[in-house]
Amino acid sequence: MTKEAPRTYDVVVIGAGPVGENVADQASAAGLSTVIVERELLGGECSYWACEPSKALLRPVLARADARRVPGLRQAVAGPLDVEAVLAHRDKMSAYWNDENQVDWLDAVSVDLIRGHGRLDGPRQVAVQTPDGGAVLLKARHAVAICTGTSAALPDTPGLDTVRPWTSREATSADHVPGRLAIVGGGVVAVEMATAWQALGAQVTMLVRGDAGLLPRMEPFAGELVADGLREAGVDIRFGASLTAVAREDGEVRMTLADGAELVADEILFATGRAPRTADLGLETVGLTAGDWLTVDDTGRVTAVADGWLYAAGDVNHRALLTHQGKYQARIVGAAIGARAKGEPVDDARWGVHATTADGAAVPQVVFTDPEVASVGLTTREADRAGRRVEVVDYDIARVAGAHQYGEGYRGQARMLVDVDRGTVAGVTFVGPGVGELLHSATVTVAGEVPVERLWHAVPAFPTISEVWLRLLETYRGRQQDQMLPAEA
Ligand SMILES: Cc1cc2nc3c(=O)[nH]c(=O)nc-3n(C[C@H](O)[C@H](O)[C@H](O)COP(=O)(O)OP(=O)(O)OC[C@H]3O[C@@H](n4cnc5c(N)ncnc54)[C@H](O)[C@@H]3O)c2cc1C
Repeated sequence: MTKEAPRTYDVVVIGAGPVGENVADQASAAGLSTVIVERELLGGECSYWACEPSKALLRPVLARADARRVPGLRQAVAGPLDVEAVLAHRDKMSAYWNDENQVDWLDAVSVDLIRGHGRLDGPRQVAVQTPDGGAVLLKARHAVAICTGTSAALPDTPGLDTVRPWTSREATSADHVPGRLAIVGGGVVAVEMATAWQALGAQVTMLVRGDAGLLPRMEPFAGELVADGLREAGVDIRFGASLTAVAREDGEVRMTLADGAELVADEILFATGRAPRTADLGLETVGLTAGDWLTVDDTGRVTAVADGWLYAAGDVNHRALLTHQGKYQARIVGAAIGARAKGEPVDDARWGVHATTADGAAVPQVVFTDPEVASVGLTTREADRAGRRVEVVDYDIARVAGAHQYGEGYRGQARMLVDVDRGTVAGVTFVGPGVGELLHSATVTVAGEVPVERLWHAVPAFPTISEVWLRLLETYRGRQQDQMLPAEA
């Protein structure tokens, strides 16, 4: 094994996914010498096995569904998808699993790259095992940032090791359409992949444990409308279906459920959650526990480590497992590292320059199903749990003129939560075709803590689906006025 002399940088970043790349970019922009360590591909899960390929698979599915709702266009898209072309486009959007463009970008932003597996080796030190068996010791003057993301969490179902199950990686990169695909889980990855592979020609069966419905972390109507859409597309959804054993025999996956039912498929996808990539990261050398999520403060510092040199951003800190939110953290963490290194004041007050306040107040998410789901801020359940007094305002999006224009037979639902003590919007959920592009209006409203009274002056254009904002406000105001009317004698 070749062992080089230790190299010292201001900042060492482990993991060059979307988040690590942005931490490194920001640290470098702050004038700090920065190195990033990556063991697979620069760009991380998002670029090659998550956001990019999944959305490339889903875009033709949703565009076709939208087109089929438009009279005069419907007939033109009556046929099946061109599977080969969809998969080829997916490959292109995944950069053919090649990261050379990202390497050029790192170079352009003056960040050094070391390929290999990084592990903490005591405070402010990272030992890298390089692919050729060499070792490099990196020392950080100011900070180490862990941005190692997550991988698919698999259950301990008996027989699992024999079936070569799909995880999100295979589900986003497969080069063929299985005849029958079983999907275990009812969260975002499960519903998106069910949407994609059913439309590409697989017969999809979803096995969803319990009876909480699909998308259990969102407003219940979101999961209900998505379930309706999936069923109409031909997906077989089985709630209360608990997998007890699985085996691959004669090329087929055979599943046994808790109620004794048996099921056969060609492939099985486990969309059963994510686990932090911290099991082999040397956490124990700094007093942390291998395999744990890394809890951080609002500036991204790992709270359990003294002296404030260790940061964690992105999926690995478990705040919000989304690329855009991780990149938001990265911008703030990079700036906080820069400020501390230069002895400048750190503005970590709520909504301060160095505080990831939106993580707790305004996390936007779009689920790319038919119908789409778009949400930001609190759900009713979360508001309840947080003890926030909210007024729940619902509106049927199908009643908005813009929705009629968008597509015949439009179905959708909107919910706005008004924080009655603050007079601002605490959360918004839209479900319906095309609502993903509506979401940023809600994000600005929630993050900006715009007073509801001022929202009356934000006029949505006619005839767009955005007019749902007006209807939500009218519904809210109507209710307020009803409450103010004197009781009938
Ligand atoms: C199927 C699917 C679809 C998704 N779709 C969306 C979407 O549409 N929009 C969205 O916002 N989010 C989406 N997500 C979530 C998104 O992929 C993650 O939130 C995002 O990738 C997190 O970025 P990250 O940089 O924290 O981690 P990652 O992207 O996981 O990157 C971590 C990097 O660290 C490297 N690494 C790990 N350990 C080490 C080590 N010890 N040494 C060196 N390198 C290491 C890894 O190789 C990897 O490159 C999706 C997720 C899945 C599974």
